[in-house]
Amino acid sequence: MARFTYAPAPESRAVVDLKPSYGLFIDGEFVEPVDGDHFKTENPSSQEVLAEVGAAGPGDVDLAVAAARRAQEQVWGPMPGRERAKYLFRVARILQERSRELAVLETLDNGKPIRESRDVDIPLAAAHFFYHAGWADKLSYAGLGPDPRPLGVVGQVIPWNFPLLMAAWKLAPALATGNTCVLKPAETTPLSALLLAEILQQAELPPGVVNIITGAGGTGAALVAHPGIDKVAFTGSTEVGKQIQRILAGTGKRLTLELGGKAANVVFDDAPLSQAVEGIVNGIFFNQGQVCCAGSRLLVQESIAEGLVEALKRRLETLRLGDPLDKNTDIGAINSMQQLDKIRELAASGEVEGAQRWSPSCSLPERGYWFPPTVFTDVVPAHRIAREEIFGPVLSVLTFRTPDEAIEKANNTTYGLSAGVWTEKGSRILYMASRLRAGVVWANTFNRFDPSSPFGGYRESGFGREGGRHGLAAYLKGAFGSDRA
Ligand code: NDP
Repeated sequence: MARFTYAPAPESRAVVDLKPSYGLFIDGEFVEPVDGDHFKTENPSSQEVLAEVGAAGPGDVDLAVAAARRAQEQVWGPMPGRERAKYLFRVARILQERSRELAVLETLDNGKPIRESRDVDIPLAAAHFFYHAGWADKLSYAGLGPDPRPLGVVGQVIPWNFPLLMAAWKLAPALATGNTCVLKPAETTPLSALLLAEILQQAELPPGVVNIITGAGGTGAALVAHPGIDKVAFTGSTEVGKQIQRILAGTGKRLTLELGGKAANVVFDDAPLSQAVEGIVNGIFFNQGQVCCAGSRLLVQESIAEGLVEALKRRLETLRLGDPLDKNTDIGAINSMQQLDKIRELAASGEVEGAQRWSPSCSLPERGYWFPPTVFTDVVPAHRIAREEIFGPVLSVLTFRTPDEAIEKANNTTYGLSAGVWTEKGSRILYMASRLRAGVVWANTFNRFDPSSPFGGYRESGFGREGGRHGLAAYLKGAFGSDRA
């Protein structure tokens, strides 16, 4: 098929001032770890080492938690909401002002296309601070009780797929509600959180209100088990989420978990097909499919399955895979070798179990971690690729005949984070939405996020909501509708 040729359109790296080494951000200052070490973070599209970053040990976690406690009791907790709001607005505005720098840095450290970091991650991160700034002085009117109080110090552990955005999802509601935070970014993507720390300094946020401790899983484990924190908010794998729940059981600490997913994207025969194809592509290939709510199971009504899969393959032939800093790139790099291995292993199992594998004719760069967009047809619900979260650009296509069969297949999963429905009938959308066991159901769209809309899952996708009033409740004492103790 004829393709347009595009000249390279690389975004300049010059806007980012990478330091050779970064410390931990504790009590308003960048400091060297007292009992930890350092580790390197690399660009997954080229394997170039970007910087060295401090690895926080237990002593550093102690210092960060103590700083957060002091700041909560002496400054941030007693501060009127209208004053806290000013800081959040300031952070939001600086995020916007420095958005280009943040987008380039995010793309360098994560491997996602600049188009996505520029148009989705950074604007949404700023939007979360704006939205929650608006709530900071109106908490008594949020319908969460007459005098909602902060929990105290919160420990927050985030993953590598949306590094800055996840930091904003965690920090903005916690700060708006008067809590102070110790945040641990993922080991492979610490740099945008450290730039955020610089932005917090620029906004003159009082010392200790936010502490950012980089490190590996051990740092996260030390943080969630620390006796000095009042709540844990975690986004990541279901396996680690379960470990954290076990550790916290009986401690009285509050917990919200946002874990994995295996979302069904259900397409009926009356759906607008071209739009559905765009939605399917966005649902599974956005951020290389490394998205907890990715539409990784396509359920198509049998009568249109053949035509839809053909149209999808034609569309996938036009996707551009390559340099994430190029503004024309649709598909960037996989975040790490470990993640690439996992995707490869699950895709291989699909073939072994009898599904048909297809990828467009794209060549992969020699260096870095790459996986082509991949579609599996002839998938049955028992296949591993239909049950397990692949967290990569791999779509499993299944078919159904009736709406009830679609619901049964869609709900046949241990997860329950998101789902999509494509149909022209409003009544069918409502019928499906009320029966799909998923925290978020998109209709005739996919992967839409807004800070005012609560996001979270059922079953092995976790519990608690982030965003909206529900998200505020998760950070307030005795709030109506708050998450489980
Ligand atoms: P993890 O759950 O291991 O990582 C998430 C965060 O938790 C990271 O900051 C990680 O640190 C930290 N962490 C790891 N172990 C512990 C622990 N015992 N206690 C506290 N914190 C800990 O996810 P992975 O990066 O290993 O990804 C594995 C799989 O998880 C993926 O293939 C995908 O299926 C799923 N996943 C789901 C995400 C989602 O948004 N729901 C996001 C990321 C992954 P470190 O980075 O140093 O390991």
